[in-house]
Amino acid sequence: MPLKRLKPPLAHCKATTSSGKPCRAKPHKGGLCFFHSDPQKAAELGQKGGRRNRNTYETPLPHVTVPESAGDVKRMLAEAMADIRAGRMDPKLASTLGYLGMSLLRAFEAAEFEQRLERLEQRDDLEKQAEQTGKSEARDNR
Ligand SMILES: [Zn+2]
Repeated sequence: MPLKRLKPPLAHCKATTSSGKPCRAKPHKGGLCFFHSDPQKAAELGQKGGRRNRNTYETPLPHVTVPESAGDVKRMLAEAMADIRAGRMDPKLASTLGYLGMSLLRAFEAAEFEQRLERLEQRDDLEKQAEQTGKSEARDNR
């Protein structure tokens, strides 16, 4: 059959990875890649990989800025969500970020409330001053 001859040689390992996706590694023997034909070796390297992954989580992420507003927190949380879904962030780190983000949002709210109150008090003082000045001016003009 000519079709059979046109069929390309097996390009990838026929096993599936632990995440259920087909293994993309080059076949080593029996249609299996180096790791899948030698599970013992794979376990060893997997442990190394786990350690390596932990290290990447510990290295500082690029473009880390201090969130200074509710908008910054929103952006940070949105980025974290995307990173988790793409597998670029440790979910544990993400839940910490989520927790901190919520606390930060509450702190921003409180700070904003405080500032608003301060402004109101200042305005109140100014109005009282103006009132008194106005009274004394009225008295002087009498
Ligand atoms: Zn494989």
